[in-house]
Amino acid sequence: MNHLERAMAALTDGEADRLPAYPIACGVNRKLLGDDVTYAKWCSDPKLFADAFVAGQKYFDFDFAIGLMDLSVMAGDLGAHVRMDDENTPFVDKHIVHDIEDYEKMEVPDIKTGRSNVLIEGTRLFTEKLKDEVICAAFLEGPLLALTQVAGAERVFMDMFTNPSAVHAGLETMMEFDVQMVEALSKTGVAGLVWDYLWANYSCLGDKEYDEFEGCDKYAGKLNKLVVDSGIANCIHNCADLPHLDTQVKKFKPAIYSMAYYPLIPDSPSAGEVIENGYADNCLMAGNIDPQFFIRASTEKISKVTSDLCQEVKTALCKRGLNSRYCISSGCEVPPDRVTKLENIKAVVDVTKEDGKLGDC
Ligand SMILES: [Zn+2]
Repeated sequence: MNHLERAMAALTDGEADRLPAYPIACGVNRKLLGDDVTYAKWCSDPKLFADAFVAGQKYFDFDFAIGLMDLSVMAGDLGAHVRMDDENTPFVDKHIVHDIEDYEKMEVPDIKTGRSNVLIEGTRLFTEKLKDEVICAAFLEGPLLALTQVAGAERVFMDMFTNPSAVHAGLETMMEFDVQMVEALSKTGVAGLVWDYLWANYSCLGDKEYDEFEGCDKYAGKLNKLVVDSGIANCIHNCADLPHLDTQVKKFKPAIYSMAYYPLIPDSPSAGEVIENGYADNCLMAGNIDPQFFIRASTEKISKVTSDLCQEVKTALCKRGLNSRYCISSGCEVPPDRVTKLENIKAVVDVTKEDGKLGDC
């Protein structure tokens, strides 16, 4: 089976030769372009952005390509300061919301400029090159995530209780920004769009709060529909420790749901539990190798972890009467750090090719 056939089989729970593999390696692929391609260069040039995905595909032989840049693209374009080190994922080090009035002052930037434009044009370029080989998808920050990036999570969570209308005013602007981005990204040739809806996390928000500030009918609900109405598949990434699976998988009905696993946190759902509890019945679930293993673990260790995950998934799929609806992946992005081990990314793909083989239960 080629990559497209395998991915289509997994998406529809058809018969696949093996489980698909996609460690979420994005910014780290720039290392294949040479030492002079720093993170800052990579994320500000659409051609470099795309070239890294193309080089990553050639080197690692993934089953998908998802155009994640990082989680500070929207915040940066809205005016927040983004710190960029080669050793770390970029992060916002200066927020732009300092008091309640500031939520209303934010304006949607021109998406034809800044890193939003790099994301759109870069996604178009890598999709042109890779779409006949793998399923390509765009990646975008959801409204609540974008707001916490630009205003600071602590501040937003406090203001939800003391000044909810101000938070909603901020979310309206993020919505408008997201709507424009979906319209542009859906025309790049991608087959899907992956949302980062991070805050559907029982450690932070209950069902009621999540519904009010991202929710089924409001922000996320409308954006999910917009993606589907644009003719592409709606997908979700959420690497929270206690994700709202009933809302995000059963109600949002994404084509792909990518998640993490925190073995030390009680009730964090494992891959086997996710499958056994029915979340893969209608959705391609993806996860859940610890991203830190791509830096810290030996290649032997990550190979063993991958092999164990393949076994766990295959056993659970059989038990549930499913064929192939799980993608061996990382729980979140493979760190785009200078010190990330490329051989560990390769090991995850190569071990899945062997130990992810599917046959009779
Ligand atoms: Zn994540």
